[in-house]
Amino acid sequence: MAVSVFDLFKVGIGPSSSHTVGPMRAAYLFCQQLQHRNLIEQTTNIKSELFGSLGHTGKGHGTDKAIILGLSGYQPDKINPDIIVNLLDKVELQKKLQINDKKTIKFNYKTDLKFHKRKMLPLHSNGMRFVALDKHGENLLKKDFYSVGGGFIISHNKLAQQEIVEDNTKLPYAFNSGIELLEICKKNKQSIAQIMYENEKTWQSKTRINKQLDTLWHVFKDCVERGLNSSGELPGGLKVKRRAPALFKELRDKPQAALRDPLTILDWVNLYALAVSEENAAGGRVVTAPTNGAAGIIPAVLHYYYHFCPEANIQGVRDFILTAGAVGMLYKKNASISGAEVGCQGEVGVACSMAAAGLAAACGESPEHIENAAEIAMEHNLGLTCDPIGGLVQIPCIERNAMGAVKAINAFRMATRGDGSHWVSLDKVIKTMKITGQDMQSKYKETSRGGLAVNIIEC
Ligand code: SF4
Repeated sequence: MAVSVFDLFKVGIGPSSSHTVGPMRAAYLFCQQLQHRNLIEQTTNIKSELFGSLGHTGKGHGTDKAIILGLSGYQPDKINPDIIVNLLDKVELQKKLQINDKKTIKFNYKTDLKFHKRKMLPLHSNGMRFVALDKHGENLLKKDFYSVGGGFIISHNKLAQQEIVEDNTKLPYAFNSGIELLEICKKNKQSIAQIMYENEKTWQSKTRINKQLDTLWHVFKDCVERGLNSSGELPGGLKVKRRAPALFKELRDKPQAALRDPLTILDWVNLYALAVSEENAAGGRVVTAPTNGAAGIIPAVLHYYYHFCPEANIQGVRDFILTAGAVGMLYKKNASISGAEVGCQGEVGVACSMAAAGLAAACGESPEHIENAAEIAMEHNLGLTCDPIGGLVQIPCIERNAMGAVKAINAFRMATRGDGSHWVSLDKVIKTMKITGQDMQSKYKETSRGGLAVNIIEC
């Protein structure tokens, strides 16, 4: 299956790629299917059921809101975040849902949206079922979907045949492992970013690729900017205060402090990560990188590159994103980028690994050093559990992004101070991450039934 870097980095809304972006896309797709089968007119009600991790932590992650938005015809990358609150209030008040330009159906939060905490669908821990009913209560269409991480969804029909919408485009430099990628680079005397350009050119011109990469960079920058300038408490009831604006003020107003303390650069890295993660937790516009929970790491390290690395330039930013994308694809193909499947090592760990590789590429390092940086970054995230308090992507997620960003920079520095040779390969660490995730008890995989989530009393 061919995956584009733009499938991995998707513009969406917070707080979670698997619990917000994926369900919103699934609900949108379900309505599209009703439309294509000419069933919209007869539909008077849609029941949505959430299973597994979505059933456990969906409310905290805003899955209910995402489903309503998707059924109302909105997509995560296109919706204006400013209209969301009013739209949801209107649905709750009027108990009605507008599923296309002409059709409005009844909708009751309590009876039409069900969170199953003990039930699972067979293929994945993030399952969803949509059923459209006519005025007699007869089923018109029933579909199961799975949100498999990073906003990706797969569907599953009544006959239990998996219907994955695959892109079977033949890429000039297809690779399934780190070792294959390194061999391709060596054989063709090209960097990882160049190989990625060649693959992406299967779908569009280099000018268009650069334009899309630059758009991602602008969304990253806008997100940091909004996070730096938005104060107050995050939604959800934990009363977590946004920290980025105060830290920003302190760093900006006392530039002389940086002369006394060279580690002030780390404060800036933390700041960028906090800004994006707080924006994500508030339901703002972010890029899944590769997930929303870990969305702060790549923009933080990119900002570090752009503001603190000598000779940083826009081509370096593009190489960063392409190379990080190549590494992200390896995790997606050979392990998982879903916290519900393998714990936080699949989200923060993967983002950290991608960021370390991206930074090494932007700084002009060899493919071997890039692979080494990606490996080190994951090696020291192995076993990281997912235990968000109250099911909200806030504690430990926000700080964990800052820690992940700093760790990525350190992994890059350790790798590039060596000659590129190392004991553990990226492929081996990816395999280890997958097995560790399989061995992890389900309470540590985005269910909020283990770790910090049960040892801290909710307010
Ligand atoms: S703990 Fe990690 S995997 Fe879990 S929600 Fe937070 S960022 Fe995502």
